[in-house]
Formats: sequence, C-alpha cells, structure tokens
Amino acid sequence: MEKQEYDVVVVGAGNAALCAALSAREQVKRVLVLEKAGMSERCGNSYFADGGFRFVHQGLEDIRRDVLLDLSQAEVDSIEIFPAYSSDKYYSDLMTVTDHQSNEELARLLIDNSRDTVRWLGGYTIRWLPMFNRLSIVVNGKHRFHGGVTVFASGGGAGLVTSLVAAAGRKGIEVRYDTAARRLIQNRSGAVAGVEVRGPEGIYEIAARSVVLASGGFEANAEWRARYLGRGWDLCHVRGTRHNTGDGIRMALDIGAEPHGNWSSCHAVPWDVSAPVLGDRTIIGDYQKYSYHLGIMVNLQGRRFADEGESYRLFTYAKFGREIINQPNRTAIQIFDRKITPLLRDEYRVRHVTKVESDTVEGLAEKLGIEPGALVRTVNEFNSACQPGTFNQEILDGKRTIGIDPPKSNWAVPLDTPPYAAFVTTCGITFTYGGLRINSQGAVQDTSGRSIPGLYAAGELVGGLFYNSYPGGTGLMAGAVFGRLAGASAGKSAQSVA
Ligand SMILES: Cc1cc2nc3c(=O)[nH]c(=O)nc-3n(C[C@H](O)[C@H](O)[C@H](O)COP(=O)(O)OP(=O)(O)OC[C@H]3O[C@@H](n4cnc5c(N)ncnc54)[C@H](O)[C@@H]3O)c2cc1C
Repeated sequence: MEKQEYDVVVVGAGNAALCAALSAREQVKRVLVLEKAGMSERCGNSYFADGGFRFVHQGLEDIRRDVLLDLSQAEVDSIEIFPAYSSDKYYSDLMTVTDHQSNEELARLLIDNSRDTVRWLGGYTIRWLPMFNRLSIVVNGKHRFHGGVTVFASGGGAGLVTSLVAAAGRKGIEVRYDTAARRLIQNRSGAVAGVEVRGPEGIYEIAARSVVLASGGFEANAEWRARYLGRGWDLCHVRGTRHNTGDGIRMALDIGAEPHGNWSSCHAVPWDVSAPVLGDRTIIGDYQKYSYHLGIMVNLQGRRFADEGESYRLFTYAKFGREIINQPNRTAIQIFDRKITPLLRDEYRVRHVTKVESDTVEGLAEKLGIEPGALVRTVNEFNSACQPGTFNQEILDGKRTIGIDPPKSNWAVPLDTPPYAAFVTTCGITFTYGGLRINSQGAVQDTSGRSIPGLYAAGELVGGLFYNSYPGGTGLMAGAVFGRLAGASAGKSAQSVA
C-alpha cells in the first residue's frame, strides 16, 4: 500500500477529536481523522449527548452578542431569570462535586477557556440555544434558568457533531471511517511518528508529524470496567457508543504514558432497567430518569439508600448510577405521588418506560416484587421525617427530613397522595474518569514527567478533571477546550518537525 503521510492524525471522531482536527487545520494543511465506527455509528458519545455546555458568562445580554446569535426578541422577552456563571462559581462547583481532587491546572484551563471556545465553535457554524424547559422552570409564563448550564448546541450532541463533521469537510479534513488505530509508531528518538491502523483494507501504517488521541474512555469495555471500576461493573448498561473501549489509553500506556485521575470511578446515572445494554442512537436520552430528587429511591428490599435531595440534579446525577449498581440486582425504584408526577421531566412520559402505578403503597410493592411491609415502613418513616417548609425546585429549598438515614436534604415532600407511580431503573455508565496525564499544552506526559514528543490527547481519555462526581455540561465543554488546545499544539509541533 502507498505510504501515507499527514501533519496531524487525530484518533477518534467525537467532539474532542473534531475540535482537535479543526484547530490543527488552523496551523497545518494535512489533517486526518480516524474513526473506528462506520458512518452509521460515528462520533461516539458526543452524538448521544444532550448538547449542554457549562461555560463562564455574564448573563443573557452578554452572550447575546457572540453566542446566542439566533435568539428572537420574543424569546428574550420570555426569559425572566438567566443567571450569570462566573469563573469562581464554576471552579467552586467543580471542586465541590469532585471533593477538591480535580487537577487545579486542568480545571483552570477548562474554565478560563470555556467562554472563548464556545464562541470559537460558533465560527464553525455551531448554533447555540437556551435550554428552554430542560433547565428552566416556567413561572407565570416566563422561563427561570438555574444550575449553571443554560445553553446547548442546536440539535443536541447529534447536531453538534454533524456540524463539526461538515466543517471538517469544508476545511479539507478527511474522516476515515471503519478505521481503528491499533498502535502508536515511534521513531528512534522516541517521538510519535504515526499510527498503525486496521481498516477495511487490512492493517497498515500512517505516518504523522504529530498524533492527537481523542478516542474516548473505556466505558464500553466490560473487562476493563470489571478490572478498574470493580465487581459488578461488567454487567452495567452502557448509555453511549460501543466503540469506546480504552484503545487510545492502552496505546499511550504501551509507550510509557502516565495514568492519571480517578481510574476506579466513572459517570453513571439512573437508567431505565428495560433499556438495551448498549446505547441506542434512535432513543438516546429517553432512558435517563433524572427527577429522582423530587421523590424517593428504594432498592428491591424497599429501603432508601441515598440522599435524593443532596444537591441540584446536575451535581448528583452522575454519581447515583454508582449507588444503584451496589443495590440488589443493580436495581433502584423511583417513587412519586400524584402531587409530583406532573413535575417530572419528559423522559418519564415516553412509551418505552418501565413504570408501575397503584392507589396504595402496598399495591405498588406487590407489583414491584418488594415485600409490602418493608416498603410501607420506609414510606411511613420518610413521611414522618419530612419537615415543614416551602417546596421550591429552583433552589436548594432546605425542605428536609430529620431522624432518618439516609436523610433527604432538600425537596422532601411526603408521599401521601395516590396514585403512586414507580419507575424501575438500573445503572447506566456514561464515561470513565481515569485516563492519561496531559500538560498545559495538551501534550501526553510519560511516567518520568516528560512530554512524549508528538503525542497529544483530549476528551474523555484525559484523566485528572473528574473524581467522584461531575458537574453536568462539562464533558462536551472539556472536550472542546482540550481538543482545541491539543489540536493547536499538535499543529505547531508538526510545523517544527523537519
Ligand atoms: C446519553 C449521553 C448524554 C450526554 N449528555 C451530555 C451533555 O448534555 N453535556 C455534556 O457536556 N456531556 C454529555 N455527555 C457526555 C459527553 O457525551 C462526553 O463527555 C463527550 O461526548 C466525550 O467526547 P469525546 O470526544 O472525548 O468522546 P466520544 O465522543 O465518545 O468520541 C470518541 C470517538 O473515538 C472513536 N474511537 C474509539 N476507539 C478508536 C480507535 N481505536 N480508533 C479510532 N477511533 C476510535 C469512537 O468511535 C468515537 O467516535 C453525555 C453522554 C451520553 C452517553
């Protein structure tokens, strides 16, 4: 086969990879993107994402100038509250949910470059919209936004990557499908000089002046999940692509890269128990069950096991999947009464939902296969523990329980108004937190603390940013910031290679 040579080869074709490719193309001409999946499954977890981005801004007037360019006056008039999101708040939110373990340098890079990267994406025809209804509450006909994520890419993750692939095409960047990177090639001095791939034509080598790894985490690799996340994780549901099996991480570790971050943890959410075992690109978000903070969650023994109202949903949803996998049969049941069911998110009203209803708690338990006495006891104890106060979804309302373990810290409203509705969930893994160590240029570090020449990384396979939990809307933002950074560094490095 004819020898192929590129300035920059990017491994993967998700959000991080495409940002890296576009950024590299701003520096050099010959950029190639390798995608393990075929066309019909391309673009990884980014395709599955809701499309929310967490970035720093000063409020609606500020981002109307250069981000929300398509917002009509009628839409502006329909918004009552659209809070600013400061760097300090971003930093404190990220550090709080990660138990202050997030790598400070990576955190600062993410936060300081978030706003400009959103604007930069706009230059590649990504269109931005406010997250009406999903992250706003309508009061007297006006939208009140909350929670730090107020804007998403038009068309969600699918719209985002479709626009990025189109932009790559306009820039003359080839995306080569069905072509998986297998091994990094090094020259005699140890610099990365290309990749070995497996494509429809067989196994062959591609020479590159620099390589960006952006091929996702290891969430779709059952053996690695059991190895690093622990017992039972081989059996969890995968929310997104089946192609993120840790290939990029393995290839880098094979040449001496340093593992970094929280390898024994991951982003995992409450997920409909009847969902397919791997992500379904036609249904995507409907299997998530994100209104748990409005009711209670019990296991198959009828016991509560987590503080459903610990904080805003965007700060807890990514860790409750991990609580659920530790319950009998990896199952958790979310229970609400008639007062609350109208407030549930849209994904509770879809056709493919695992739902049981009854006029009594005993009846609900029988339908769910839970010992009725146990569930009645749990509900009675919970109801008696609920303190007076005003229920308000927009804030941490402090309407909590006293005297039960675990407590419910906010939005604790007695379950006393039939019919009762129960939704059966399991653990759905989104992505893994452990990965490679990069420096402030996006260069992959080796175990001696030196950059591996010619090797850069971005996206899910970078470790060090997320520990324990994750603030919603940060995955895409981090992929874009670090993809842009890695691509620029890889492009500059390619220019300097003779
Ligand atoms: C259902 C769902 C909803 C989500 N919603 C949001 C949201 O609203 N906001 C947010 O910020 N985050 C969200 N996320 C998380 C977000 O999607 C990810 O953090 C982000 O998309 C990861 O981007 P990435 O480019 O690193 O990886 P991916 O987008 O997964 O891309 C990795 C790519 O690498 C390819 N690949 C793998 N191995 C190889 C190989 N050997 N050779 C070549 N290619 C390879 C894969 O096929 C894939 O295309 C969501 C995730 C899911 C699953």
